[in-house]
Amino acid sequence: MRKLAPGRLVIASHNKGKLVEIAALLGPYGIEPVSAASLDVPEPDETGTSFAANAELKARFSADLTGLPALADDSGLCVDALDGDPGIFSARWAGPTRDFGLAMELVNDNLAAVGPDAGRDAHFVCALSLCWPDGEIVTVEGRVDGHLCWPPRGTNGFGYDAMFVPWHHALSFGEMDPDKKHAMSHRADAFRKLVAAVF
Ligand code: IMP
Repeated sequence: MRKLAPGRLVIASHNKGKLVEIAALLGPYGIEPVSAASLDVPEPDETGTSFAANAELKARFSADLTGLPALADDSGLCVDALDGDPGIFSARWAGPTRDFGLAMELVNDNLAAVGPDAGRDAHFVCALSLCWPDGEIVTVEGRVDGHLCWPPRGTNGFGYDAMFVPWHHALSFGEMDPDKKHAMSHRADAFRKLVAAVF
């Protein structure tokens, strides 16, 4: 498998929280993360039909425009009883104002509509793609499994964290110490796989 040489790596995300998290993870490998925004690279439309396809199109777009290797991620919450929804539409379920209180209510209402016996199993997925300027691409996927609680609990984290309780834990991601969440999250799982593959 091709290895990533030390040097600049474009992070194809405009989310500051993700940039900080990714920079910390790459620190030990001699990689200098550069945000796509700082190079005036816009965000492409997420037209893929899977997490991997969206991560790949974002990484390819940045690598093509900058001539540098680029890393992109795509993530979301998949609920078994909702056939995997909200899935790749996780951000879009929060509407134009990005109201995740509303998005969590929508998930809970949809589960109620399935019926009183609807299972509450769910998992977060994170796809990570690394694309070199010559077009070679590596994509890995990480996940964390758990169940959904209601009402939401805790104010840490973001997105659907307050309604997600990972298996074998009592606290939701919203209640958990952030370092503890980051060590077991879908993003950490995907990064471990990426590091094993290309670093
Ligand atoms: P993306 O930026 O297109 O990958 O959007 C991912 C969306 O999935 C976010 O806006 C969140 O709603 C949700 N999501 C992804 N990862 C997490 C997480 O770790 N906790 C809570 N929600 C998450």
